Amino acid sequence: MALSGIQIYKMLPQTNCKECGFPTCLAFAMKLAAKQADLDKCPYVSDEAREKLAEAAAPPVRLVIISADGREVKSGNEIVLFRHEKTFFNPAGLFIRVYDDQPLDKIKARVEEAASYVVEYVGMALTIDGFAVQATGDGDTFAAAVKGVLDTAKFPLILIATDTAVMAQGLEAAEGTRPLIYGATAGNWEAFADLAKKHDAPMVIRADSLSVLAELTEKIKAAGIEEIVLDPGVRDLKSSLALNTLIRRMALKKNFKPLGFPIISFPGECANDEGMVSIAATQAITKYGGFVVLDRFSPATLYPLLALRANIYTDPQQPIQVQPGVYEINDPQADSALMVTTNFSITYFSVANEIDGSGIPGWLLVADAEGMSVLTAWAAGKFDAERIAKSVKTTGIGEKISHHKLVIPGHVSVLLGELEEELPGWEILVGPREAVDIPAYLKVWQP
Ligand code: SF4
Repeated sequence: MALSGIQIYKMLPQTNCKECGFPTCLAFAMKLAAKQADLDKCPYVSDEAREKLAEAAAPPVRLVIISADGREVKSGNEIVLFRHEKTFFNPAGLFIRVYDDQPLDKIKARVEEAASYVVEYVGMALTIDGFAVQATGDGDTFAAAVKGVLDTAKFPLILIATDTAVMAQGLEAAEGTRPLIYGATAGNWEAFADLAKKHDAPMVIRADSLSVLAELTEKIKAAGIEEIVLDPGVRDLKSSLALNTLIRRMALKKNFKPLGFPIISFPGECANDEGMVSIAATQAITKYGGFVVLDRFSPATLYPLLALRANIYTDPQQPIQVQPGVYEINDPQADSALMVTTNFSITYFSVANEIDGSGIPGWLLVADAEGMSVLTAWAAGKFDAERIAKSVKTTGIGEKISHHKLVIPGHVSVLLGELEEELPGWEILVGPREAVDIPAYLKVWQP
């Protein structure tokens, strides 16, 4: 059972020395109970208390890590059911499945295509995370496919086989990496656990009921395997949503350790229709899928999934920001337009992409608005005349341009008068309200 803040407090030194970064031992205890603090921050906890608290302080969803050639996919360590409560920590890993009954050159071509796919999204380069290799026959064929995949792209792997002898050969072929192994059930988990232990690989356990799943994870843990991934067996949308949510609720709200593990999802097994697969994958990413295995590499499906994942796993309390300063777009000259916006990433990229797409050179002055969008920053007093004027002065943009005209976003036209006062000698122009209208505005803009 989870310990309450008061129960934890009773085990702390109660000296309120503040060394943990919290004003009192009670405040620290409350954070520990909420899984939002690290016990190691208090140097004065007794060994006895530490032992008792370690279990309570452990993340309710076990961290599972797989890796290859320096790339890691981590899943687990989550502490909230909903992103807005705090944040999600480890993005769902996206894997593309290949089958070993395909010709090796086809497998390699598919892997190469998927591995080289990169989506540029608000300054981030988004990619898939790895490949799932599925055995369909003997161990030699499986091993050849695993080797072929790794020779083409050294991405983390999920190895899928029902026969432990076949899996053993796959693991040998994947030596030097840390794959996730899939295929254990109530009937064969011991042999899979032996393999997992021998190769230091996390393992998936599949069962068709949560009570059996919980029993099996306890047995697997007792056999010495800590990193376990759950497959609750169902594939349809409704049952997947219900069971994934139940598993995560049991782990987070009841601190039920036997289900405190990441979940694997197979959206491609939900439907053949690509649209339904997208919906199933979307559900898996948003509702607790830690490893998501897709059956096809399709940029049309992947692009929105990668963007969605980036949004879901962005800390809502930490806006993504770009560096304040002057950005040169399309090789601007002294007579090119100068526009100002805030340093919220999505705002910056919306504006910068429109200028870039227009083909017209321009200077983009990005003011430090603490990562807020234009209207939010203005309302919070973070994008006012004083801050914009300060950006103009500190960046020295006035010396790079032959005109002294500054275009402000249409949404903050109210700043015009104040800015003219803050920037004597400058002409302040009110630009479009929406970024999408910038190209048309630039076409008629005159220095
Ligand atoms: Fe209390 Fe330990 Fe924090 Fe000091 S460091 S305030 S003793 S919890």
